[in-house]
Amino acid sequence: MLDIEDLVTAYGPVRALDGLSLWTQYASITAVLGPNGAGKTTLLRTVSGLARPASGRVRFDEADITGWSPDRIVRAGLAHVPENGGVITELTVAENLRLGGLWRRDRAGVSASQGQVLDLFPPLAARLKAQASTLSGGERQMLAIGRALMSKPRMLLLDEPSLGLAPGVTLQIMRVLEELRDWDDLTVLLVEQNARSALSIADRGYVLSLGRVVAAEEAEGLLADDRLRHAYLGM
Ligand code: ATP
Repeated sequence: MLDIEDLVTAYGPVRALDGLSLWTQYASITAVLGPNGAGKTTLLRTVSGLARPASGRVRFDEADITGWSPDRIVRAGLAHVPENGGVITELTVAENLRLGGLWRRDRAGVSASQGQVLDLFPPLAARLKAQASTLSGGERQMLAIGRALMSKPRMLLLDEPSLGLAPGVTLQIMRVLEELRDWDDLTVLLVEQNARSALSIADRGYVLSLGRVVAAEEAEGLLADDRLRHAYLGM
């Protein structure tokens, strides 16, 4: 589904991604783990077109999307939920959701997507007219994911959706991601500091350090590897 080859993204002299290769399978959840500064956020920003790689390739469903603009990448079916969600707090919940599907021409489809989002996240249904600034942290994260789903993506890139959330809310969000994979064949690339909750739903996982992949295997394998857990996952 997503196939990344030898990606290098630098901020001045800092190579945040230093020859990183990674792939994901259709309708699976792939966790991307690793300590602060490993390059996880830069990876998502490069895939979604917000950061430009110096070299390397990003392929999505056979198309070479390297260097494409962020809006073209969303139209191709790849939606990015940034760290802290990026919800626009001055707008209402409904307005934020509408933004996610703004470019879509199929009105019936947009309204079906909104229905699906509200089914997945019932707290949003009760708060449609509320200003997003009044939402709890968990509701904001739900809104951020909901807004991304409004573009009817085939793949979702998520940057630390559990950041600052209580364990119960994190669990709720992880369950929704599983549901989207199992029922909608959504492919998910999930960046997390919280390795335990990410690996509880992931099929495979990558561990990054200093912009490189230091381990890549099935989720159970990563969880069983004491050396990795201690050295990179803080578990
Ligand atoms: P965190 O969990 O702290 O967000 P991360 O794994 O997402 O970490 P990145 O944010 O991608 O890591 O950062 C990778 C490296 O790139 C770090 O050394 C960081 O200091 C550097 N970096 C990230 N963004 C910038 C920027 N805008 N300008 C300069 N350096 C940056």
